[in-house]
Amino acid sequence: MVEKPVKKEKISRQPMPEQKPEVRKRNFEEVPFGLSPEAAIKEAERCLQCKNPSCVDGCPVSVDIPGFVGLVKEGKFTEAISLIWEKNGLPAVCGRVCPQEIQCEGKCIVGKKDEPVAIGNLERFVADYERRNRKAPMPTKAAPTGKKVAVVGSGPSGLTVAGDMILKGHDVTLFEAFHKPGGVLVYGIPEFRLPKEIVFSEVEGLEKLGVKLECNAVIGRIVSLDELFAQGYDAIFLGVGAGLPTFLNVPGENMIGIMSANEYLTRSNLMKAYKFPEYDTPIILGKNVITLGAGNVAMDSARTALRLGADSSKIVYRRSRAEVPARGAEVHHAEQEGVEFHFLTAPVKFIGNAEGRVVAMEGLKMELGEPDASGRRRPVPIPGSEFTMETDLVIIAVGTGANPLLTQSTEGLKLNKWGYIIADEKDGKTSKKGVWAGGDIVTGAATVILAMGAGRSAANSMHEYLTRGW
Ligand SMILES: Cc1cc2nc3c(=O)[nH]c(=O)nc-3n(C[C@H](O)[C@H](O)[C@H](O)COP(=O)(O)OP(=O)(O)OC[C@H]3O[C@@H](n4cnc5c(N)ncnc54)[C@H](O)[C@@H]3O)c2cc1C
Ligand code: SF4
Repeated sequence: MVEKPVKKEKISRQPMPEQKPEVRKRNFEEVPFGLSPEAAIKEAERCLQCKNPSCVDGCPVSVDIPGFVGLVKEGKFTEAISLIWEKNGLPAVCGRVCPQEIQCEGKCIVGKKDEPVAIGNLERFVADYERRNRKAPMPTKAAPTGKKVAVVGSGPSGLTVAGDMILKGHDVTLFEAFHKPGGVLVYGIPEFRLPKEIVFSEVEGLEKLGVKLECNAVIGRIVSLDELFAQGYDAIFLGVGAGLPTFLNVPGENMIGIMSANEYLTRSNLMKAYKFPEYDTPIILGKNVITLGAGNVAMDSARTALRLGADSSKIVYRRSRAEVPARGAEVHHAEQEGVEFHFLTAPVKFIGNAEGRVVAMEGLKMELGEPDASGRRRPVPIPGSEFTMETDLVIIAVGTGANPLLTQSTEGLKLNKWGYIIADEKDGKTSKKGVWAGGDIVTGAATVILAMGAGRSAANSMHEYLTRGW
């Protein structure tokens, strides 16, 4: 008698347990708790182990996704992290903040008929498991080459270069302008999305491998790139980010109570204003907060405002919901927490009181017209639709530009018309001999994983230069 094949029971995507919105909107603890080992194994069972895995095509650093997911399925979490590390040095960060829905998960074959395999949640799970258990062996370092490398900026691009170059046997110093390393991962993305302890633990790992970290070192101000070469550095990587805030040029924007998202988030995150009275960092605690913009930065600002005690936190965006650039998960979390969205709305001017403190925003309603240069439909004001919104804190989150401090004080470094460094797309080489660049300072504000990918390509090219020549 021929036995009938047993039909495999369909497993649904394992839900990520998280803090309840009404609780979390008043604390800075991380929102999702992470998967349990049982849930991670069950989720990994959903992977079809495709021969031509489309998920890998969607990963900018080509992590062996079926490989590590298969190891999770077998409960081999330590082996899984070692495999991820071959391609990605910051998995605990990427598992939390990468836009998986448009990258690996967006391409997952299971997603064609069902919800895709939760690759990001699994990546986060194995990285957290390793951080708690410390079982995986440290990667092995190549023999010393005697070459010195300076990495300027300790965001994801700089951290990737530092990690890759130390493993290739070079002597690496990581220079950071702020008093803490991590770049946007520490000063921009809030604790409730990415606990700082995770970033610091990744940096500690680099220090254990031998990377020397120098904080409070504003390169271009305390020492020029040519002086670094004169001090014996053989190659330099620039990963200084794009942290210069953009403003709207709307009347009244200079009033007290209006600040850039960069300033607001830096005060709250890096300078720990949220930990008052343990930290006494000045910050404006608005009760009626408006955030202008709808990217990840805007969501982080609006959600931070709620946690700092705002009664109402509004996102004001001149386009419609369909054009919102923030990750879907961030918008969803913000809505759950009670952030109000005002789409097709633009500011016209800010109104202040006698002390020059903002008390209201005058706005206009918009409608979508013909597509503009970006391909998105241009918002067009609706005549006579003026209205006023009360506010005591306005956060401007409409983008950032290249920080000119280092780039403009460095001779021989070619910049484009917006002030970003011109670097070879493939390997990050700049116009200045011995200098590479990558991350937001080359592409403009982008993502963590793209900055890491640029760091990886630059490190390979720097290694070739140090061992074979320019
Ligand atoms: C609030 C916020 C939320 C975000 N959310 C997400 C998200 O959810 N997912 C995602 O993928 N991306 C997100 N991004 C974007 C992402 O964080 C950036 O694309 C990424 O951090 C860029 O990395 P980087 O290495 O180029 O530079 P950065 O992270 O910007 O780091 C640059 C570092 O260089 C230092 N520096 C600058 N000048 C000097 C100098 N002269 N000398 C020494 N050091 C210097 C800076 O202090 C900084 O620490 C977010 C960005 C922000 C601001
Ligand atoms: S595409 Fe999806 S199902 Fe296929 S290997 Fe990748 S994660 Fe697994």
